[in-house]
Amino acid sequence: MKRLVILGGGTAGTIMANKLRPRLDEDEWQMTLVDENSIHYYQPGFLFIPFGIYTKREVVKPRRRFIPRGVQFILSPVEEIKAQENKVVLGSGEVLPYDVLIIATGSQIHPEETEGMLEAGWHENIFDFYTLEGALALHQRLQRWEGGRLVIHINEMPIKCPVAPLEFAFLVDWWLGERGLRKKTELFYVTPLDGAFTKPVASRLLGDTLAQRGIQLIPEFNVARVDGEKNKLISWDDREVEYDLLVTIPTNMGAEVIARSGL
Ligand SMILES: Cc1cc2nc3c(=O)[nH]c(=O)nc-3n(C[C@H](O)[C@H](O)[C@H](O)COP(=O)(O)OP(=O)(O)OC[C@H]3O[C@@H](n4cnc5c(N)ncnc54)[C@H](O)[C@@H]3O)c2cc1C
Repeated sequence: MKRLVILGGGTAGTIMANKLRPRLDEDEWQMTLVDENSIHYYQPGFLFIPFGIYTKREVVKPRRRFIPRGVQFILSPVEEIKAQENKVVLGSGEVLPYDVLIIATGSQIHPEETEGMLEAGWHENIFDFYTLEGALALHQRLQRWEGGRLVIHINEMPIKCPVAPLEFAFLVDWWLGERGLRKKTELFYVTPLDGAFTKPVASRLLGDTLAQRGIQLIPEFNVARVDGEKNKLISWDDREVEYDLLVTIPTNMGAEVIARSGL
């Protein structure tokens, strides 16, 4: 019996399990999927939570529901991938040998990578919406928003779903308008890119759309640190952007197990 092991049961791991199980003979291939979390998070839905369009219920589902029959599910952290030995070590110490390994452990935000980001104001006037906790906390904060400088900020590239911050900018513009708060709010879009987006044509069109909506684009801003006491972003070339509310996309990084395993 050959063994196919999938690490991570998020979008990618779940799709691989569902696509491959019907294609691989069950008498020939044993399939196992490992994830440390019993909950599947529908991350694209996080974007809509700050505006009350989605609630937690819409984005949180039991992971087992999406794992097809014939795939063994192990609920456990993956401690190490021993690629030279074709083995995976789980948190319990259990060893899973494999013939084929699919790594689908995704990427996560790391606000601690930016000096000051977690020091003052985190989830008070600095929020992410790339985690469920961040999106829910931002929803609460927006309920109390009365106006001021609202800064949408990309810390560094690459990030998963690079269009999500732009979608957020257009959604918050609409949401503020609906509540009569748009004229009381200055919106800024701060990015390390040289324009609104990664691709030139889209960048030009989206840059124009930001301008039409009165959202000020601040390009080529590579943040060195966040001053949470003075509510400022400070770049490596000493430019400053003040905020009353900072909605940031912190540094995205792959799962720690990959680095730990020397891959
Ligand atoms: C706000 C937002 C909006 C988005 N909008 C879109 C969109 O409109 N369209 C689109 O295509 N994409 C969108 N995305 C991106 C999309 O959600 C991701 O690209 C996708 O989830 C990546 O799938 P993945 O399986 O690689 O990682 P994930 O879905 O993050 O899954 C990784 C899994 O690995 C598990 N894992 C990690 N490390 C370990 C370990 N050591 N041990 C055990 N398990 C582990 C985790 O628990 C997790 O379940 C958006 C993302 C965000 C945050």
